Amino acid sequence: MPTKSSSRADLPSLGWNLEQTYKQLPRVFFQEIEPATVSAPDICVVNQRHAERLGLSLRDLPDKEAARLLTGQHLPTGAKPIAQAYAGHQFGGFTMLGDGRAILLGEQRTPSGELFDIQFKGSGRTLYSRGGDGRAALGPMLREYIISEALASLGIPTTRSLAVATTGDTVYRETARQGAVLTRVASSHLRVGTFQYAATLRELDNLRSLADYAIARHYPELVDDSQRYLQFLRAVVDCQASLIARWQLVGFVHGVMNTDNMTISGESIDFGPCAFMDTYDPATVFSSIDHGGRYAYGNQPNIGQWNVARFAETLLPLLNKDQDAAVEIATDVIHQYPAAFQSYWLDGMRKKLGLQSGEDSDAELVQQLLDWMQAASADFTKTFDDLSTADLSDDLYRDERFQSWHARWSVRVDRERSASLASDDLMRSVNPSVIPRNHRVEEALLAATRDNDLRVMERLLAALESTFERDERYSDLRLPPPPGQSAYRTFCGT
Ligand code: AMP
Ligand code: MG
Repeated sequence: MPTKSSSRADLPSLGWNLEQTYKQLPRVFFQEIEPATVSAPDICVVNQRHAERLGLSLRDLPDKEAARLLTGQHLPTGAKPIAQAYAGHQFGGFTMLGDGRAILLGEQRTPSGELFDIQFKGSGRTLYSRGGDGRAALGPMLREYIISEALASLGIPTTRSLAVATTGDTVYRETARQGAVLTRVASSHLRVGTFQYAATLRELDNLRSLADYAIARHYPELVDDSQRYLQFLRAVVDCQASLIARWQLVGFVHGVMNTDNMTISGESIDFGPCAFMDTYDPATVFSSIDHGGRYAYGNQPNIGQWNVARFAETLLPLLNKDQDAAVEIATDVIHQYPAAFQSYWLDGMRKKLGLQSGEDSDAELVQQLLDWMQAASADFTKTFDDLSTADLSDDLYRDERFQSWHARWSVRVDRERSASLASDDLMRSVNPSVIPRNHRVEEALLAATRDNDLRVMERLLAALESTFERDERYSDLRLPPPPGQSAYRTFCGT
């Protein structure tokens, strides 16, 4: 196990206000470990705005110091680094996992009183590294940075990225790559897999400690509830139904919805082979290893239910002393997931079509549009964007099937006249214009990793910040990929 002697001499305070609440859990839940020493840290990108939200003032820090800080070479005051234990179903198979290449510094208490995990990803081996090197390559860390910030701009719950710094060390994947560390910010890193890990320990006290900790951290209103574990299960099921609906509404394909990549907080996490869909097709898969399409776009809602069912299983001993009764209680909650998902999804789809009221035939109206999009190979984001701006100049829209759908939709929208917000304003506020399209992300990563040119990525990030604004400066980034560039693949084990 590589150890290191991180410098603990103090930097000017910078606003660190780290707590160690997770460390109050029993020792089986973590390993104390310091980030590995790296040879030549260098800053790549720092999310200054997000730093400020956390109460950190990194702006005046010289680059060299920032690079040492953001690769774990100079630990901030109050950091007590650990790797977290967890397990998970990976493509359906259960495995013991844990932070194999991530180290938690602690939880930052922000000026407004919120608590956020500060975690390094790619900072060396831990007890849970198994055969891995504990490192991360620059491209995939920048990719996580771009995607997480894009989801945040879209208003979708997600972990955030504070910085990416290169280590100066080489990481070996299919080829030699530049090593990097991503600083990730999360409302916690508690996963369904953390509960699966606790359940395998077969000690009720451990499981209860974890559940009580998660409830206090994420659902404090339930702490004194006499049925808090049941309410906790309900809350997690509900926030996942909501989250996955929101992914569907922007065409986001996570790519590795293993139970270790599903949070208890309802934030999106772990952006490996994820991508945004261009042409609409429920069978869309980007991950090179997802041969069966388990995590295809159209399958995400079902997988969400499968995952929360695994979560419910871990809570059984807390739900009722009698196992059969516990199973009945849990099953009932899991059965509510499809209706919850459908309701979040339909509500979101209505907004995408400028509808604030609900009519029984709306689901069918939405489905008709999706069916046309699939048959016509229409671009998902562009279609909703074009409807929002009433720009139907594309030849595609001359199609008779689209025209007849459009006529039906126009009549439906007309019935919204009394709504408080104009339909087109509503549509423009929920339908993104710029998303991190695969070909644009690849372009940005190539420039950054091959040419050390960060400008392409910085421009993409700037455009993503105003994803709903239809800023003319970024009109090129709105376009779908040129024909022939759409067979996109992403890779796991990044
Ligand atoms: P992920 O696919 O990133 O969600 O990771 C799945 C599991 O593999 C987690 O336990 C990670 O910590 C671990 N892992 C991924 N990459 C590495 C690596 N390079 N070294 C050690 N562990 C890793
Ligand atoms: Mg993971």
